Amino acid sequence: MKDVVNLSKLALPEPLNLIGGEWVPARSGGEMDVVSPIDGEVFARIADSDAADVDAAVQAARAAFEGGAWSELTAAERGRLMIRLSERILEHAEDLAQLETRDNGKPIAQARADMKVTARYFEYYGGAADKVHGEVIPFQKGYNVEVHREPHGVTGHIIPWNYPAQMFGRSVAPAIAMGNAAVLKPAEDACLTALAIGRMATDLGFPPGAINIVTGRGARAGQALADHPGIDFISFTGSPEVGQMIQQAAARNFIGCTLELGGKSPQIVFEDADLDAALPVLVNAVIQNGGQTCSAGTRVLVQRGIFDAVGARLAERFGEVEAEASDHDGATLGPLISAKQKKRVETYIAEADAPLMARGRIGEGAPDGGFYVAPAVFGPCDPKARIAQEEVFGPVVCMIPFEDEAEAIAIANGTEYGLVAAVWTRDGGRQQRVAKAMRCGQVFINGYGAGGGVELPFGGIRKSGHGREKGFAALLEFSTIKTIVNNHG
Ligand code: NAD
Repeated sequence: MKDVVNLSKLALPEPLNLIGGEWVPARSGGEMDVVSPIDGEVFARIADSDAADVDAAVQAARAAFEGGAWSELTAAERGRLMIRLSERILEHAEDLAQLETRDNGKPIAQARADMKVTARYFEYYGGAADKVHGEVIPFQKGYNVEVHREPHGVTGHIIPWNYPAQMFGRSVAPAIAMGNAAVLKPAEDACLTALAIGRMATDLGFPPGAINIVTGRGARAGQALADHPGIDFISFTGSPEVGQMIQQAAARNFIGCTLELGGKSPQIVFEDADLDAALPVLVNAVIQNGGQTCSAGTRVLVQRGIFDAVGARLAERFGEVEAEASDHDGATLGPLISAKQKKRVETYIAEADAPLMARGRIGEGAPDGGFYVAPAVFGPCDPKARIAQEEVFGPVVCMIPFEDEAEAIAIANGTEYGLVAAVWTRDGGRQQRVAKAMRCGQVFINGYGAGGGVELPFGGIRKSGHGREKGFAALLEFSTIKTIVNNHG
């Protein structure tokens, strides 16, 4: 790997798990290589953990939750620790961003933005830790009824590789803010920033067992965590196939879960839209993070009267996009996460059941061993075409024409997913009608994406999953209600 990463103040994480406040190797001694998507070279190793490591982590979390130093902290003290972690992340943001880019392949500008968002999760939820109040319910004479909001206990977190640091913050911060003790299984394809932030938490004096991190393969460490009878709640982000298995495991253990499983999100462009404002956003909503974003706006629905004009402009812009090494300023599209993901995306492109309108390029300087894919625009697509229905998770967009509002709504809602949608129009009535008609968890009007959107409840329906992350909604997910009825006479 060429020496492009300046990890001056941040040591490369070692192949260790964080269990009960200690950094320990996998009990089996197993390790795995970490490959950089930029050039395909091995540059680090992580612990290849199994059920024994997961069991130790769950036990450490249990001890922290039941009587350990973590359980002794007040909500304000938990929040203060989290805010210090937020500040520590910001102090090391550049080093963390360099590490994220090397590990995940995302453009360095995106990695820098991710670190701000990650810090913001710990700031936001740290600030909220002592602001989740219970209620008193007026009841019969002689009774006092209190509704308490309590942590679940031990929470399991299985996160994907597309936003490793952000996902850590998004999943773990609300859980620990509520007083749960967390066991995190990050993705084997990219987990070094999660380990680095875990190291910051231990350095800052987070009590042992409050945050535990066990790295390794999904089918082994991940499955062991999902199946473990000692967890009280599980939060999963990743593929629908694995999400279904997580929900089955949760059912076997009679616990709750949240699932965030991706989407095929529509952006609806009406004839009266401000196209100059819309076009850059339409492009960015697809190529951001190499299209490896659950909320990527990968179906662009365009009203028929402007379809050819918008198609030509979008094709021109995509045609200019170059996939390149992502570790320098100005890179907009880097490699995909792995050889497997590159093959998956290229297969979708090769087998697409719609006309190809434009293809970007792979830059001449892109290292040979990296996992680069030139972006692709397809259209006009039949809304029921496979390429317009399935999540590709790469820089691929489908353009779909529509006649009127009713048809736009039907097409937009016409996949198994329902995560995010956008409507581009100057007509205020239409903005409200279409937003209300969208069957999904988040709708943008004349825009797309919220730069992290830490405060904004986020999640899907059906194949996009269920439950809500971000905002106060996540605190409610990571807690349970107890009603205390006191007959005081
Ligand atoms: P995945 O679902 O296999 O992996 C996500 C996480 O689940 C990782 O931490 C992984 O180790 C873990 N995991 C895998 N198998 C498991 C199991 N049997 N039990 C418990 N945990 C397990 O996703 P992937 O293979 O990395 O990507 C495949 C596709 O999933 C992508 O192409 C994309 O469509 C989708 N995806 C969606 C998101 C999202 O943000 N919604 C993120 C990543 C991937």
